[in-house]
Amino acid sequence: MTDKIKKIDSLVADWQTLHRVFIRPEDESSRKTLVKYMEQILFGLHDFLNKHVGVTEEISLVKLAQEYTDTKINKNPQKKLADVIKAIIDEIAPRAVNVASPYFIGHMTSAIPFFMVHLKAITAALNQNVIKLETSKVLSVLEKQVLAKLHRMIFNFDDDFYLEHVQNTETSLGVFTTGGTTANLTALWIARNKSFSPKENFESIEKNGFFEAMKAHNLEKAVVLVSKRGHFSLRKAGGILGLGNQNIIPIDVDVNRSIDLEKLERKIKDLQKDKKTRIIAIIGIAGATETGIIDPLPALADICETHGIHFHVDAAWGGPVLLSETYCHLLKGIERADSVTIDCHKQFYMPMSSGMVYFKDPKALDQIVYHARYVNRPGSVDLGIKTLEGSREANSLILDSALKIMGSRGYALMIEHGIETARQFADKIKQRNLFDLVTPPQLNILTYRLVPEDIRKKLKTADTEERQKLDARLDDINIKLQRIQREAGKSFVSRTRLKCSFKDHHNSVVLRAVIMNPMTTVEILDEILDEQESIFHSLNH
Ligand SMILES: *Cc1c(COP(=O)(O)O)cnc(C)c1O
Repeated sequence: MTDKIKKIDSLVADWQTLHRVFIRPEDESSRKTLVKYMEQILFGLHDFLNKHVGVTEEISLVKLAQEYTDTKINKNPQKKLADVIKAIIDEIAPRAVNVASPYFIGHMTSAIPFFMVHLKAITAALNQNVIKLETSKVLSVLEKQVLAKLHRMIFNFDDDFYLEHVQNTETSLGVFTTGGTTANLTALWIARNKSFSPKENFESIEKNGFFEAMKAHNLEKAVVLVSKRGHFSLRKAGGILGLGNQNIIPIDVDVNRSIDLEKLERKIKDLQKDKKTRIIAIIGIAGATETGIIDPLPALADICETHGIHFHVDAAWGGPVLLSETYCHLLKGIERADSVTIDCHKQFYMPMSSGMVYFKDPKALDQIVYHARYVNRPGSVDLGIKTLEGSREANSLILDSALKIMGSRGYALMIEHGIETARQFADKIKQRNLFDLVTPPQLNILTYRLVPEDIRKKLKTADTEERQKLDARLDDINIKLQRIQREAGKSFVSRTRLKCSFKDHHNSVVLRAVIMNPMTTVEILDEILDEQESIFHSLNH
């Protein structure tokens, strides 16, 4: 007996300890310690993050990196599980970024409801793999049901349609992905394949490849059109799908900062002139990553319909707005899309990382059917037959449970809080002499910048050359401001570059705020502006 305890304490790798790792914690007291620490993680970590208002502990990245340079894997165990967890709580958590802080308004990653952590843990404990029925059973069935619920939220077909497809093993209404990037890639993959019908000696682009597709269709290139606010994942898709990322063609935005429809029509005409180019998709953005702006979806749907082009809506960010009765009208036209991307780890407030893509046509995913002899045999209900990803966790369980806990109304409250708080924030910015609102919030994202009084005055009369100098100074001030605030560690806004006015030639540095944490109040936003003003004043001294 004492021998046994000694062994446990001496941290060796042997069969006895190995077996224990697969079964249960070593003994009653270790089990208690473990439960205590797990409790601290499942409940306490959240408390910790909420109390710990600062965004991150003060330590320079250089110093931090120096502590993580040992590249050898230790031969023998170093720590017991409980000690490992304790070290995570004590050493890793304080040095991670506190994305749950209500002062953290810079990115699309934020606080999540605490129950998400438990749902994630359960999903891990069950460890189902929805690639195939043999490793998931009910979770494959549940996934189809959840996909149908969300498909209904977007496309709103009638009861008969959903009864026919919800558990139909021949059709798919959508797929879960690792995020918006792979969701967009899947949508464009299908749009690409659909665009090249079989010909003599040509079956499909999937089988014969890009070169054969071009030859068979007497074409030279294939392109996708999207506003210049399109997410960079679309260019990756251009690369992966063999179109070339330069053929994800950016269209200018107009005064509304959404896609310029006239320029889009002109581009289509241009591209169609020599009959050597195929437009495989036009993309509407429903909540641009940088500005939150929504493209005119009904007009884009009309254009796609007229030309017979696949219409994809990238609603990675904005999709869940459909759950708000007050604001769902902003996404009008999305129901006319051929495919729609929505992220789970953004405004569905799920933990990293999960996204989805939906297809209006339940047969659309047939474009990418893949079988393997050992799994995913033809005719089986395995979900992995029509997905980019192979092995996949059962994220549908988390989304389904969250929808049960929150209801669409619960989600709507968070969405509405974000949009309304962002509007109030915009007013606060406008009321201050030191700030200019650059893009007002259509959803819950806005951009602004700090413009000192003297520069503001000079800008009014400046000629082109002086203007360039002033622009450079403004950029410099706003870059410093954002960096100093981030490093101070109390609050965080991000920054990007945008044209401040329609006629501008210069892409100015702007501060970007994403209001998604329901704990972020107007008072907190006021404090963030106060801090920025005082940072600016300290810059001058
Ligand atoms: C976030 C985002 C993406 C990419 O999603 P990931 O989950 O980061 O891969 C694509 N499009 C838009 C509009 C986004 O906001």
